[in-house]
Parts: sequence; structure tokens; C-alpha cells
Amino acid sequence: MTGLRIYEEKKKKSDRASKITYVLAVAAGKGGVGKSTVATCLSLALKNLGLKVGLLDADVYGPSLQQMLPEGLEPAEDQENPETLLPAMTLGIPFISVAHFRKEASIVRAPIANGIIEQFLETVNWGELDVLVVDFPPGTGDIQLTLMQKGEISGAVVVTTPQEVALLDVRKAIQLFGEMSIPVVGVVENMSYLVDEKTGERFAPFGEGGGERLASEFSLPFLGQIPIDRSISRAGDEGKSLWDLAPESVGVAQFSSIGKQVWDSLEKLANTGLQVRQKDPCHIEVGKGDRWVTVSGADLQAKCPCARCEGQTQSDKKEVSILEFSPVGRYAMRFGFSTGCNRGIYPFSLLEIWLEI
Ligand SMILES: [Zn+2]
Repeated sequence: MTGLRIYEEKKKKSDRASKITYVLAVAAGKGGVGKSTVATCLSLALKNLGLKVGLLDADVYGPSLQQMLPEGLEPAEDQENPETLLPAMTLGIPFISVAHFRKEASIVRAPIANGIIEQFLETVNWGELDVLVVDFPPGTGDIQLTLMQKGEISGAVVVTTPQEVALLDVRKAIQLFGEMSIPVVGVVENMSYLVDEKTGERFAPFGEGGGERLASEFSLPFLGQIPIDRSISRAGDEGKSLWDLAPESVGVAQFSSIGKQVWDSLEKLANTGLQVRQKDPCHIEVGKGDRWVTVSGADLQAKCPCARCEGQTQSDKKEVSILEFSPVGRYAMRFGFSTGCNRGIYPFSLLEIWLEI
């Protein structure tokens, strides 16, 4: 009953200084896809929806997000509670970066990545937040695992570029979230196309439709495309909000739409609360209220999203028993089958669409 254990741990840990409703990871398979830009703009988009947003730069490898933001106040010791740190403020968003601690080694005594990340999670007092956006380090190593295990991540946005889609890295990142029971709320394709400033014509130097194909390959929502746009790079270079610099830009329109979709997904993931009950060894019933649907183990197994089953043609065995199932947080159910697979995390949002509940 791993799912239950995770759920209990999440409940237990929720009484720290900060009151954060959702933690959103912004992740990528590798560096250089503009993930930090997406994390910043997505934070601003969520803030513009009227939400309380914080931004945690946990990318210990990449060029620091801090450089893309205006000089803010440094993080400070919390006077009321010397054990905790107060984040800096930038563009109206509480913000903390690993870079803060590279300089101020005295604040965090163990300047090794994992130590810093753990300190972040334990000692920063964010106050009350609707969403904490975490700029994840790219890839699937130890630091990412620490963040996934200890960060109480509610969901992840995966950033890719059209040319990165062909690579394994981004798939591995999506699969790791699945294995860690973290739902991916969608895929954002960055650096999708150029617009000729004179003619308004669109060019796609790196190919088209990659992000969308990747999303459909994993049955994930495709959240949108971000163009290669001078105002977006200027906002980063000058440490300004894209919303102030180019309020009418395509970038603002796209990020606003992505922000809205992400928020809706986070709310939906937390609120679906589907129930599952066993009908007989080879069937379960899924539903809520008076709408219940019977599903066979074979059909369920055929849809298994785990890394082992994903992409494999399932045997046409008619009898697949459902040996176990357990909730994962409040957003998904994990099933174990007589085929040997017990790693598939089925988000309620997907079950709802699939079973039309
Ligand atoms: Zn599976």
C-alpha cells in the first residue's frame, strides 16, 4: 500500500511554517530549452490570475534564474523564528534561488546541492501560497529524486523544444514523474517558431508539432507553444516582467493561457476524489456519487502508463486479475495486476475522461 503511505506522509508534513496549497515542478529533460524562462513567466501568469505565487529556483546546474530577475532583497532570517528564512521578493513574487546560497554560504552550511535543496524545503518560510513554482534542475538524477521525494510536488509541467522532442531525456523525465507518483499536468513547447516582424509570417526552424506529439504519446495535455520572441528574451535580460514590457505580446497571451490550464489542472487533481471498489477478481468499479463504471482488469492493464508497460502491445489475455489498488495522494490510483505490473499510476483526471464519469 505504497500509495497510502505517501498520502499519510504528505498529511504529516503539511504542518511546517509555510502554508502552500500546490507545489508545481517546471522540469525538462535537458538544459537549454528555456525552462527557467517558462518557470518565471508561468509564475507571473499565475500571479496575474490573482493567485499567491512563490518561485523556488532549484536548478543547481543551469544559469541562475536569479540573473533573469531584478535585484531583489536577499533572503533574510525570520525574526519571529530564527530557524527559518524569509524569501527575497522579485517582481512581486517571493523568490529563493540556490544562487543565493552560493554567495551567502554562511546561511546554509552545507553548500552541496542535495543539502541545499533539503534546507530549502525545510527552512524557507513562504507564508501562505496558492502555488509554489519550482524550477527543477534538468534531467533525472539524485537532486531531482530528492525534490520529488521531499518536495510534496502536486504536479509537473514538462518543457521541451521542437528539436528536443526526438531525444530520450524528455521521455525519461516524464516517466520518472510517473514512477514517483507525480502527475504531469502537461507539456509546454518552448522556442516553437519565429515571427517575421515585418510580415507577421511564422517560421518553424526546428520543425513543427513535436511538443504536441510528445504530449499525445503520453496521453498528456498539450498546454501551448511559446514563440522565439524578442520581448521574452529582453524581459529576461533586463529583469523585467513580460507583462510590463510587452503586455500585448503573443508570449503574454500564451503564458496566460498556460497558467489558466495549469491552475485548473491542479484544482482538478485535488478535487476529483474518485472511488474504486473491487467487483470480482477481474473487475473493478470506478465512480463517484451515483455514476459508477465497471472496468475489466485487462482493459485497465492495457492502459497502464508505467514505464514498463508504456508503448508495449499488451497480450490479448482476457483474464487479468486486479490484485491490489491504493490511492496516490488525492489525485490518482495505483493498480497491481496479475501480469506482474504494479507500478501504474492512473490519475483520476484521466480515468474520468476515459470512463466518462
Ligand atoms: Zn504497468
